[in-house]
Order: sequence, then structure tokens, then C-alpha cells
Amino acid sequence: MILKSRRARKWTIVVASLLVVVLAGAYTLLQVAGSRTFQFFGTLVNRVETSEKIVALTFDDGPDPAGTSTILDTLKSRQVPATFFLIGRDIAAHPDLAREIAAAGHEIGNHSFSHDRMIGVTPSWVADEIEATDALIRTTGYTGDIHFRPPNGKKLFALPRYLAAHNRVTITWDVEPDSAGIPGAATIEQDTIGQVRPGSIILLHAMYPAREQTRLALGPVLDGLKQRGYRFVTVSQLLAARR
Ligand SMILES: [Zn+2]
Repeated sequence: MILKSRRARKWTIVVASLLVVVLAGAYTLLQVAGSRTFQFFGTLVNRVETSEKIVALTFDDGPDPAGTSTILDTLKSRQVPATFFLIGRDIAAHPDLAREIAAAGHEIGNHSFSHDRMIGVTPSWVADEIEATDALIRTTGYTGDIHFRPPNGKKLFALPRYLAAHNRVTITWDVEPDSAGIPGAATIEQDTIGQVRPGSIILLHAMYPAREQTRLALGPVLDGLKQRGYRFVTVSQLLAARR
């Protein structure tokens, strides 16, 4: 009896230890999947090191009728170039809006076709998501480099492997004033201006109907950063300025 209970205790300790290791591993993978600054393969850029006061403004999602013309008008009135990470499905639904963005001279990036989570997925699914969206982006007349930004910034194995194999850069961000909930325009303006530093990449969600506050904040953000001596560049121009 004593021998048996000792053996049982030993097994309990082994199983508990294994469980701790598995949970710690799963936790680490979750951290990597959501990291803005690290991935297992290839190049990920969330900002660049530079002493120049340059900043890249990026928009995620869409194109959508609720936001496109307001965003384009605001950018045009301030002569600011931006980078739009568009969703393939939304380009297919609104090809005219995607063409307007390209015709205005902005950079277009790939934000997947479906905007589904790109972790725990197969290599062929990743390839389909990216290649279908690249093809749609090319139908807009856009001819520049197409960088990639994962939906919700999530990536783990298959996605970074594909991007690395195709010499594609993963672009995240270091300033995200409207990612958590829907803050008011004044908060978005203050947070953005307070957090930008030379080489920053700003992420804004201004496309969909619920994002009125971000659209309202856009003009004041551009004006405020210009007043502080910042110059806006596309993501490709920012990458070229890397030291
Ligand atoms: Zn998105």
C-alpha cells in the first residue's frame, strides 16, 4: 500500500510538471503571436531608428464607403501621404474606392483577404489569403511595394514563414490610439501626438461607420504633428530611412 501511494505521488508530480511546461509553452506562444516587435521568421518592423522627425501614418481595414472619401479629403488638404492596409474582401466589394486610394498616390498594403486570425493555419491557406489580396491590390493600378500587416497583429509560424520566404516585411506599429475601444477624437489626438517619436508608425482605424471619432481626430493629428516639426512618409519611405 505504501509503495503504491508513493508511486501515485511520483506520477502526480510528473503530470503536474508536464502541465506546467505545456502551459508555460502555450503562454509564450501567445505572447509571440501578439507581439508587435518579434516574430519567429523574417523581418518585422514596428518603427525605425532615425533622428529625422519622420512618421508613417497607416490605416487598417476597408476600403469602406463610410470612411474613404473623408480620409482622402483630409489627407489631400494637408498634402500628407499615407499607407492603407486594405482587406481583400473589402477591395472586392468596393473596387472603385480602392482605385481612388491608389489614384491619390497613397501606398497600399496587404491586410489579408478575410481578416480572419492567421495563427494555427496551414501554409496554403496563408498563401491564398495573401496572393488573392495582392492580385486585387494590383487591379487598383497601384504599382509600388506591397507590405503585409496581419489582422489584429497576430502571427505565429505559417504566416511569418511565408512572408520571409517571399522577402516580404511584416509591418506593425508603435502608436495605436484607437485600437482599444472607441475613444473620443480629443483622446485620439492627444494620445497620438503624445506618443509619436522620430520613426514611429501610427495605426488608425478610420474606415468603418463606427469610426467617426478617428475621422474627426485625423485633421488635428496631422496639424499637431506638423506643428511639432514632423514630416509624413509612406511605410516604404520609412523603411528606406532605416539606419
Ligand atoms: Zn484590421
